Amino acid sequence: MLNLLKHPLLTHKLAILRRKETTTKDFRETLDEIAGLMAYEITRDLPLKNIIVETPLSECKTQELAREVVLIPVLRAGLGMVDGISNLIPTARVGHIGMYRDHETLAPNTYYSKFPDNLPEAVVMVLDPMLATGGSASATIKVLKDHGARTIKLVCVVGAPEGVELIQKDHPDVQIYLAALDEKLNDIGYIVPGLGDAGDRLFGTK
Ligand code: URA
Repeated sequence: MLNLLKHPLLTHKLAILRRKETTTKDFRETLDEIAGLMAYEITRDLPLKNIIVETPLSECKTQELAREVVLIPVLRAGLGMVDGISNLIPTARVGHIGMYRDHETLAPNTYYSKFPDNLPEAVVMVLDPMLATGGSASATIKVLKDHGARTIKLVCVVGAPEGVELIQKDHPDVQIYLAALDEKLNDIGYIVPGLGDAGDRLFGTK
């Protein structure tokens, strides 16, 4: 299911990411803030369990998160979303995955992966600012399912209709979260209007 998050602060900060004059420093800080704002919505359905704590005055029946959260940034641009979310969920564990596209088959392949061992019990959040063709996101989700993940959320900032469609087809059980659904992909797979190459803008490599 697609969850298109709407909030004036998200819209305002996304305009900063989109503007071509935005510096690497501002891009990095703003992406972090956007991820933090999105965290509020993507955690809305996390289950709670009953606990009792001692306040300075008395016993208090209250609740805490019942499931662990695992963040999986897709290298490289997904790294720019980790801090914004883990600041709010400091117990979240972080795995990593890197994908490359085979020149001949164009199929996404994993070149690096390292996951915590609690994927089967955890709520697993795949982080990638751009959901373009959806090829690497779909392949990442497949790898995570092969490692036992059962609850997976795909958290992106800007998406294209093609990417959303692919994930809905390949992984109908996965919740997709976006701050914006843009118009289309261009002929080299960039989202239009989009924000350019998120990895380059985040790390200043262009
Ligand atoms: N990856 C990006 O960084 N930008 C796009 O527009 C598409 C994929």
